[in-house]
Amino acid sequence: MLHIDVLANNDALTGLPNRLLARTRFEQVAELSKRSREYVALLFLDLDNFKTVNDSLGHAAGDALICDVAQRLKGAVRSSDTVSRQGGDEFLIIVAGLQDQESVAMVAAKIIDVMAQPFKINSMEISATCSVGVAMYPDNGHDFDALLKHADMAMYKAKESGRNAFRFYDAEMNTNVIEHLHLISGIRSALLRNEFRLHYQPQFDLNSGRIIGAEALIRWHNPELGNIPPNKFIHVAERSGQIHEIGTWVINEACRQAKLWQVAGLQDLVIAVNLSPVQFRRDNIERDVINALEKHNLLASSIELELTESLLIVDSEQIKTLLKRIRALGVHLSIDDFGTGYSNLGYLSRFEVERLKIDQSFIRRMTENSNDEGIVRAIIEMAHSLKLEVVAEGVEHRQALERLKQLGCEYGQGYYWSPALPPEEFFRFWMAQCHLTG
Ligand code: C2E
Ligand code: CA
Ligand code: CA
Repeated sequence: MLHIDVLANNDALTGLPNRLLARTRFEQVAELSKRSREYVALLFLDLDNFKTVNDSLGHAAGDALICDVAQRLKGAVRSSDTVSRQGGDEFLIIVAGLQDQESVAMVAAKIIDVMAQPFKINSMEISATCSVGVAMYPDNGHDFDALLKHADMAMYKAKESGRNAFRFYDAEMNTNVIEHLHLISGIRSALLRNEFRLHYQPQFDLNSGRIIGAEALIRWHNPELGNIPPNKFIHVAERSGQIHEIGTWVINEACRQAKLWQVAGLQDLVIAVNLSPVQFRRDNIERDVINALEKHNLLASSIELELTESLLIVDSEQIKTLLKRIRALGVHLSIDDFGTGYSNLGYLSRFEVERLKIDQSFIRRMTENSNDEGIVRAIIEMAHSLKLEVVAEGVEHRQALERLKQLGCEYGQGYYWSPALPPEEFFRFWMAQCHLTG
């Protein structure tokens, strides 16, 4: 009985599930995914040059290759995914539990990658690349047959594109995902080719009018893509995990520059560095900071770390103690983009934060809209009652500056004074300012 079952459901050559069993498996995971609201992807895979192998080396070699491909594909996906043989040199892979298109793209890219390694058949190296078409449940079809047809169509698009590639059925997904993958590989080479720079936006003491430091803002110039703003690549790097490497580079570079400037006479300057909440998922921030300070022989009080509200709201003991240790080094801590996240303010007093940066959207609208001015005033009062200092971001006009002074705001930064500047220009700006304010 069991034997008949296996015969009916499995491919005789590879032992993989056949189309019949693949359909059943799909229907099971599709049903489950309705509740979890996750995607199921059908990846239709076709070898690029199977006919040549069969014709030149014979059917036995062709069969051996198919068996090796089956093993490799199984090794490239999780054991809960289904790899099935559809016949000939066609395979179907069902991947469930996917949160988004990018994770599907990662799986497809991995398959292309493992297949690109040569196979050894009859002690000969054979290259057997493949083309993959992807259709997603439920977006590209509601039943197995529709999805299979769409994945097959997408596979032909991959062949047309020059083989050894994958394509989504949905054209828009292709552009999104391709752009995304371009950025990921662009970031990888940017780190290798040293394409990142830090620019520095001056910060001012509103009472004395003196310049007190700068916020370091990352800049990326890619020879092909041009200048790519941080708002476009930081979230990609956060999802791909590359933010850890970028973050290490940023802290080190900021410390290196701060030391250079101190030696050149900019004594009390504090450089603020942006940290992504994702960087806290690994525990190398503290080590990065200590390493950079030691390497450049810099006082910890020359550095400020800008944290996001979302990081503090989770109220994790682990983050609390980590921030305590970092603060104990003498590094300053501030909260960035304050007012855009949560309105639960209780967390502020539980962390060792000293400054709060009011988000620029409030400052920009403040002089036009009395509601926004009310919010700014409330934030400043609340911050002061918690013994926190306030930095206003995005100050563009004298009017806003005067109002902020009246409200008791301590510091400011924005285009009213200057945008972020390359290091040499920042140095000249600092010298000119010191000259002005004496
Ligand atoms: P942010 O930390 O809120 O940085 C302030 C952004 O506002 C900067 O944009 C700055 O150039 C811009 N800005 C400054 N003054 C004004 C003004 O008066 N008016 C207007 N309209 N804009 C002003 P930028 O450099 O494009 O950075 C965007 C965001 O990218 C930053 O927002 C920050 O979240 C992120 N980012 C930048 N550098 C880094 C970095 O090194 N690491 C991490 N994790 N994130 C970074
Ligand atoms: Ca910031
Ligand atoms: Ca900000």
